[in-house]
This record gives sequence, structure tokens and C-alpha cells, in this order.
Amino acid sequence: MQDILTPKNRFPKTIEEFKKQFHNETTCLHFLFYKRWPKGFMCPYCNWIKREQEPAKTITCSHCGHPTSITTNTIMHGTKKPLFGWLECIWWLASTDGGHSAKDLQRLLNLSSYQTAWTWLQKLRMAMAVADNKPCRGTIELCSNSILLGGDKGSKSQILAAAEIILPSGITGRIKMESIGELSKNTVTSFLNKHVATGSSLVVPDSTGYQGIDQDAYFTIADSKSATTVRIQQIIQSFEIWLNKIHRGGVVAKHLQLYLDEFCFRSNVAMLSDNEAIFNLLLSGVLAQKSRSYKNLTAHITTE
Ligand SMILES: [Zn+2]
Repeated sequence: MQDILTPKNRFPKTIEEFKKQFHNETTCLHFLFYKRWPKGFMCPYCNWIKREQEPAKTITCSHCGHPTSITTNTIMHGTKKPLFGWLECIWWLASTDGGHSAKDLQRLLNLSSYQTAWTWLQKLRMAMAVADNKPCRGTIELCSNSILLGGDKGSKSQILAAAEIILPSGITGRIKMESIGELSKNTVTSFLNKHVATGSSLVVPDSTGYQGIDQDAYFTIADSKSATTVRIQQIIQSFEIWLNKIHRGGVVAKHLQLYLDEFCFRSNVAMLSDNEAIFNLLLSGVLAQKSRSYKNLTAHITTE
């Protein structure tokens, strides 16, 4: 069992190279098997490990008897489509800038169904959120603003966002964004618990929404001439422009979080060394064991 991306067999730079390297389903299966179980097959039901297990489409656990496929309990769970299509889509998302619509993916994979392309992209956005899970830390700009959504007849959605400022250069580091109902002590606290490491310094607007921040956990600095939240306000604006340019008003509020997750992922992986690192990070999210909350999130999305 070996990783097919070796020094001799480099990470594909073009779609043609990708198709040549991942040329059949057996190659794709072996590749994914190695990525999911680098230390040998581990049964997701009883955690039994079988190091000498050869890659196979379905493996029956010799300890508990449960059958497991390479996609069991991952984001691809229950897929009826070839593994090649999933890997091609992951490669394409990791190797191209900007963002893509479901129509772009439908063309790339030559899918007959727009719904399948849309569902795949939503699942891969969930994988981005799973993979891009490091909290922001250090000096952070925190701000909330509303954006206009074309998909809900011009309704507005409230966004809460954070951006690391890497000192002394002052460049933007990691960003995190969430769609919130309204700005309140509860939404700010929940956002900080999830996305910002304690001990960080927060630059916040001078507004009541931020007054309940735990002063033992964070050092807060009110927005002023010397410490502003201009950068994070611009990032929220950039998201609004990106969303409406790529998806042309087709996004509704109930799906907004997944697009925020993709935007943050794309911004954060710009700090990685190359496309192979981005591909591996996204793949780690695709292969991660699904959590209960993740299952609830996917419950409304059909399996393709
Ligand atoms: Zn088992």
C-alpha cells in the first residue's frame, strides 16, 4: 500500500496530469485507502486495527463483522459516483483560485444533474469547515456587519467576523466568519469560544454588542484611530462581492454559512506552501469521521 504522490510521481499541476495519474478506480481506491488509514485499516465501528489489510472496496471487520467501505462515515458516505469524480473535484477546488458555481462543476465532471453538482459542492464546503478548524489567535479585529443576499429577494444577513493581524508586519492572518441572527452577548461569546483562542487581544467597535466579552479570557481594545476594525469590515465587504459575483444572487440565508466557510478556507489556505498542501488539507476534511452535528447538518442534503 503506497501513496501514489511520490517524488517521482509529483502532485499533478494540470487536469491532464491529474487524469493520467489517477487513471482508474483501483488507483483512486488505493490512494484514498492510504490517506484514510496510513497505519492500516481501522474499523470505524469497533476501532479494531488490521495493519496488513489490502485496500478493497468493502472490508468486513474480522472483530465485529461490520462491513466498511472507503467512504463509510466520511463526507462521501453512500456515494454512488466513482471515486475518481470526487478526487477530481477535490483537486480542482484545491488547484484553482476564486471559487466556483455548481454549473462550473457540472461542466467539469460532465454531470447530467445540476442537483448532484450542487450537493457535492455543499458537502465539500462542509469538508472545508472541518479541515480549517484552527482558531485565530494573537491580535484580532472583530466586527459585525450585514450583507445583501440576492437569493432571498434582496434580504440582509448579519455576519460576525474575526481576522488575525500578524505583527509586526501587520498583514492579515487567519479569518473566521459566521452568519448570526443578531449581534448580542450570546452570539459574540459563542463565536469567540469557537473561533478565537483565549488570551488574544481583540480590537472591537465601540458598541453594546461587544460589551459582554469575558475580560478574563480576552483583552479588548475599543476601535479608535490607532486600532481600527477597518480591515475586517473590508473582508466582510469582499465576501459580499465574491458571493454575488460567483453565485449571482443564487444563495439563500439558510445555506449562507457554507459559503462563508469556503471563503474563509480559501483565504486561510493562501498561507500554505502549495496546491498539494491545500489538496491534502481539504482531503483530510473529506475523510474525517462525521460528527453528530455534521450528520444533522447533512440530513437535508441528498446522497449522490
Ligand atoms: Zn469492527
